[in-house]
Formats: sequence, C-alpha cells, structure tokens
Amino acid sequence: MIRRSSKWGVLILLVVGLACLQLGCGLVSRITPAASPPTVSPQPATDPTARPTPKPAASGVIIPALPGPGSAGQEAALLPDARQDLAGLAGIPSYTMAVDIDYAAGAFRGASRVSYTNQETVPLESLYFRLLPNAGKSYGGGSLEVTQVKVGGQPAGTRLSLSDTVLEVALAQPLEAGRTTLVEMAFSGEVPLDFGGESNPDGYGIYNLSQGVLALSGWYPILAVYDANGWNLDPVSAMGDSVYSDMAFYSVDVMASSDLVLATSGVLVEESGERRRFVSGPSRDFFMIMSPDFQVSSLDVGGVRLSSYSLPGHAGAGEVALAAAAGSLEVYNHRFGAYPYTELDIVEAPMRNASGVEYPGVFLVGSDLYTDPDQLSFTITTAHEVAHQWWYNLVGNDVFAEPWLDESLATYSSNIYLQETYGEDAYQGYASYWLDRVERLRADGEDDVVTRPLAYFESLENPAVYSAVTYNKGALFLKSLREEIGDQAFFAALQAYYAGHKYRITRTDDLLEAFETAAGRQLDDLYDEWLYSAHE
Ligand SMILES: [Zn+2]
Repeated sequence: MIRRSSKWGVLILLVVGLACLQLGCGLVSRITPAASPPTVSPQPATDPTARPTPKPAASGVIIPALPGPGSAGQEAALLPDARQDLAGLAGIPSYTMAVDIDYAAGAFRGASRVSYTNQETVPLESLYFRLLPNAGKSYGGGSLEVTQVKVGGQPAGTRLSLSDTVLEVALAQPLEAGRTTLVEMAFSGEVPLDFGGESNPDGYGIYNLSQGVLALSGWYPILAVYDANGWNLDPVSAMGDSVYSDMAFYSVDVMASSDLVLATSGVLVEESGERRRFVSGPSRDFFMIMSPDFQVSSLDVGGVRLSSYSLPGHAGAGEVALAAAAGSLEVYNHRFGAYPYTELDIVEAPMRNASGVEYPGVFLVGSDLYTDPDQLSFTITTAHEVAHQWWYNLVGNDVFAEPWLDESLATYSSNIYLQETYGEDAYQGYASYWLDRVERLRADGEDDVVTRPLAYFESLENPAVYSAVTYNKGALFLKSLREEIGDQAFFAALQAYYAGHKYRITRTDDLLEAFETAAGRQLDDLYDEWLYSAHE
C-alpha cells in the first residue's frame, strides 16, 4: 500500500521540473492538502490462548451444497505459460465460497468450504482463521461473524480471541502431516457506511460503502499462516498492510444485483442471472469491490487483460491509470519475470489514510488522486501497486514482521518504471525525494533500522517514521546496492528471487542472499550501512 501523507506535495515539487518534459508538462504543482495523521492506538499484542472468548457454533444455519472445482478449473486465471505452475501447488488450501450481497444495506451472508492439507512437519490440533474486519483499525468499523463451523461434516468447537479477529477451530483429532481436512463455515458481515462517520478516524476504506462503492476486503474467514514460529496471529494495525496469508485457490460464487459492476481478484468464468462465478488461480486473498457507477476501460498487454474502473467524471484519469499500469506491467515483466495471471484490475475507490492498497490481481487507488491525474503521484501510486503483484502477492512476505521487504521493493520498482519510461532525470528526481525524507529523519534524530516489524513503527510517536524508513530508506538501499553491484547482477538477483520464491513466503535473508549470489561476493558492509544502522 501507499500511506497517504504530505509527502506527495514535496515529491511533486522535486520531480515536477524534471519529469515535466517527458510527461508533456501536464503536471501541476498544486499540493494536495495533507491528510491529518491518523490517531494510532497501539494495541497490546495478546496471546490468543490467554483470554479465550468461548463461543459455541450457532446452529440452524445451513451451509449450502457449494459447487466446488477445488484446484480444478483454476487454470482459467493463468496465462498458458504459467499453467504448468499448478502441478507444484497441489497442496495449497482451496476455498470454495458463495456469498449473497445486499449492496444497499452494506451487508452479506456467505458460506465457505476450505480444503486444508497439513504441509507442516508436525500434527496440527487446531486451525486458525482471521476475521480481520472485527479489528477496526485499517478496516474501519465493520464486522464479520461466523455463525456455524463444521470439520469433516461434524460441528466443531471454536474459540474467538484478539478482539474477535482470531477464530480457533478445534480438530476432533490432530491433523497429521500430509493429511487433508475440510472446514465448512457460514458467516455474515456488515460494512460501515462512509467509513463509519466522523467518530471513526481509522479505516482506509477497504471495508466500506461510500460514494456508491462497496469495498470488501477481508470479507471471509481467511486461514492464518503457520510457519517456523507456529501460527501467526498478529493484531491488525492502523498503519501498513493488514493481511498475511498463504497462497490458496479460490472459487467464489457472488450473488449480487446484476447492475453492479464488480472488480475482483481472479477472473469471471460463469454468469447466470445474479450469480457470477470467479476463480483466482494461486492467490493470497480474494478481494472484491463493486459499484453501479464504475466505468471500465480495458487494454491487452501480452495476453493480460488490464481493466481500469473509474467513477463518473474520472474517465480520463482512468485512462491515465490504465496507461501507467500497462507500462509498469511491461517493465516489470522484462525486469523481474513474467506476470502469470490473465487479468489485472485498477480500481478507483474512496479512501482515507492511504493512497493505494494492493490485492492479488486487483488494486485500489484513492479517489482523491483521480481529481488531478496529471500529478506524478498518481502515476507513481499506480506503478507502486502494480509492483506489489510481484512483491507481496507472487513473492509473499510477512507484512507484520518484515514490512520493508515488499514496500521497499514496490517503491524502488515504481522508480525503475519512471526511469525506463521518462528517463534518468525522473529517476533521480524521485530518489532525491527519498533522500530528502531520510536526511530529515536523521536531522530529527528519528532514523531507524529498516528491517523492524510493523508493531515497532506503530509504537513510535511519529507515524511518518514508518514510511520514511520502510519505503524511502529501503528504496535508497536498493538504489545504492544497484550502483554497487551493477545492473546485470542487480536484475539477475531480482529475477532469481522472483523465480525461486514465486508463490512462497520469503524472509529478509532470502533477498539479501540473492544479491550476494548474483554479485559473487559478500555485501555485509552495505547491508549494515543501510538496513541495520540508524544515523544521526
Ligand atoms: Zn505498498
């Protein structure tokens, strides 16, 4: 995502002169008023086993017999060259879901059937799902309630914790490594209207009904990630990204009024009356957003259908976003490795505290930016969110523990797009803005270690340190690294990192090792200087 702050104003002043020629002087140096920083109330990390809230599964809700292709049929979301990847992904979870959406009420009822294979080396006694909208924070003031849970066809014991954002589903017997179980759930949710009003300063607008746009982030119970540290059950933050998840297959039936235009992860494969069916291919999440007012413009880029969804009066801006996304896609395909999906959607959405947010196969750009599409920040936001398809979705990372991994790569990638599209001056101009922010941090005694977790940055008094360190200093590290090892090794490393970790979750060391391997030498001094030190 990109956090909204006054930074764009500074950026525009720095880059406007440099990029003006290339962009046809459409840039305007008007500074968008800065959004006031959100109130951040650090939430204490709570051990979900420490204060359980017993909640018996409600009875009386019938989970419908869902049509379920499982992993079959998922190839529709992938380009022909990428379909061979499916063979290596047979063990990832598979979600088959149906959801009935009451658009006018901002509410929905759904059911899911999750096929889960234990890919760990130890038996699992429970499975953990996240009910993220209950956190408030970046989700705003809505809710997601699970009303029934069955495992293997039998009612299962459940336990809610961490402000009802963690749902533990007990398994009758431990699930041995390599074995598969089936979890069925019925659930319902309500989204806030207009961000929940003035009393609710949190919320990006990702779970929200505003200006006719219904955004549904985190609308279903999503499996938590199990890794070397066990189940990851981080509290949702009011800053940064808010979902950490594994690759899974999704097949989703959406029942919604047929006048609604939907943008979703994955692709539409079937339509019948008010029912639309989507499949995602391997995907870290399934996001959807809808409005009767969306105007859609599409473009084919090497077999990928790019679609831009904009609101009335913003068709021109929608075209600018489409062009920036198309250009970014081409540059990243060439520099990092091929985008494997058949679609990518760019969607205008009313947002707050964020300029853009990424999801698999779809991303949001804030409506405010559409009012002045000639600002370079509009293009940069678009290019940044496109880059997250590589860094976050395809190559995943723990966005709570190591937010710098995807954010610095997405930030630096957007500047690679500027460099290759608008020239060296645009590249150096954007990098000067990063340096300016980092130098101001240092002057204020607020420089920090890049690799710190989100919770650390959230605990700081100044919320701007997070983006300055994680995005800007992290991107400067990559720029400096590229100058040190040269273009050939730098891009060889990114290509190896992408190819070697596609569909997986990486750690900082995976990226750093890729650079050392490509360079053929240790880079410890550079890593210490940029990633692990703070300077005055
Ligand atoms: Zn981002």
